[in-house]
Amino acid sequence: MPIDPILDPSSLARELSGRHLINGELVASQSGKNFDVLNPATGKVIGQAADGDVQDVAIAVGVAKKAQKDWAERPARERGKLVAECGRVLMSHTEELGRLIALESGKALRTESRVEASVLADMFVFFGGLASELKGETVPFNPNMMTLTTREPVGVVGAIIPWNVPLLLMAIKVAPALVAGNAVVVKSAEDTPLAALRVCQIMQETLPKGVLNILSGFGPSCGGPLVEHKDVKKVSFTGSVETGRTVYKAAAEKLIPVTLELGGKSPMIVMHDADLDKAIAGAVGGMRFTRQGQSCTASSRILVHEKLHDAFVKKLIDKVNALKMGDPLDEETDIGTIINRKQFDKVRSYIDIGEKEGATKHELSALPTDSALADGTFVRPVIFTNVDPNARVAREEIFGPVACVFKFKTFEEALELANDSDFGLAATVWTTDLKTALTATKRLEAGFVQVNQNLVVQPNLSYGGIKLSGLGKEASLESMLEHFTYKKTIILNME
Ligand code: ADP
Repeated sequence: MPIDPILDPSSLARELSGRHLINGELVASQSGKNFDVLNPATGKVIGQAADGDVQDVAIAVGVAKKAQKDWAERPARERGKLVAECGRVLMSHTEELGRLIALESGKALRTESRVEASVLADMFVFFGGLASELKGETVPFNPNMMTLTTREPVGVVGAIIPWNVPLLLMAIKVAPALVAGNAVVVKSAEDTPLAALRVCQIMQETLPKGVLNILSGFGPSCGGPLVEHKDVKKVSFTGSVETGRTVYKAAAEKLIPVTLELGGKSPMIVMHDADLDKAIAGAVGGMRFTRQGQSCTASSRILVHEKLHDAFVKKLIDKVNALKMGDPLDEETDIGTIINRKQFDKVRSYIDIGEKEGATKHELSALPTDSALADGTFVRPVIFTNVDPNARVAREEIFGPVACVFKFKTFEEALELANDSDFGLAATVWTTDLKTALTATKRLEAGFVQVNQNLVVQPNLSYGGIKLSGLGKEASLESMLEHFTYKKTIILNME
């Protein structure tokens, strides 16, 4: 029987190998160099990514700059309709994209990758509908003068994306940037170049050539030149704190605006009056155990009132134990792999550190027994209890399936513990008392606070952190206006 290309992501991976997408065409790197893309569940090579450098950046940015002029001249709603149409077309590719992302990222298809592919499409549909919100104001400055403001595109946007949720995080940059009349050059993450490339290729059916381009390559040799290019007028970055600092410094040299979505060590407060089962489900979902904890918003610090603590830990252990680790493409699998060997070593070393620091380790679920997965980067989820709040595992972002559970006595103590962090991306509180809920939402130092739920990024809910978690918001109308346009003040003297 012939292989169905939609159901067989390996053939798609091979087809997309060794290519950037510039000016609507799949092209090789100027240097001719590629690097391997692996399936982290097997350690086997599934294809190649084009190794972009400063020369490819120059070509892509040149093309984008040229295309942006005509794109910005189109009526805003026309741009919006095209972006929304991209969303509809992408929706019809959900299965294919879900499988490809599962293959290259190791995220389980049923619990993670297919979901990401469908949310990606939804973001394009959502932003496409916002085009007519690109409006300005009139200002009562002088009766003889007509004074108004307009929203102008910034020009060429550089979008640098990570590997943990590459399609969704690309969508929340690309969709608003395009609707606002900008052209975009994306730099995909080293470990997940293929699904992002495929998304941009699908969008070429709908968009004019050159307004959306994507390069693969390494951070310093491809991402760096993109940030530094003189014609890139805005950078939107999601990644680590350390790289965020580098990007911010390079952008400061050019005095261009940046959006930075960086790390997190998000608290989840479970009060004595919380609904225990809902809180357990919230902890499993919020900690992103099915994504191996590879999320900036992961609820990796779980603070539980002493009255519920022991029951909570027991139930959480049972729930996580029941998750099945295995081949990401298998519909039975709940948990796939860590993205690569480097992260795998990092996560494993944090687990050792946590034990040495004296925390009690609960290592859960079970490694897959299939010999084809023997070289996969699977890590069993770990819950640490009896953790010192100053331990490294309690303070540093691990970006793996490692959660710390703490016991507290008073609400005040919980709030202090929750806010005692360098990060401030997300926080949740679980309680049935309205006053406690409201007080917590007011006092928690985070950009995204939820009560009795733990949702991920949603269209039109501004998403972004404070402190070391970053600068600026994404995914909303506000993000489109503030980060992908500049405000122009116009005065018409009628005397
Ligand atoms: P991680 O360590 O998890 O890969 P990074 O923050 O280094 O996280 O990577 C996020 C994205 O930033 C990736 O696309 C990566 O290639 C890119 N990147 C890394 N270094 C730089 C840099 N110096 N300049 C611009 N982009 C970079």
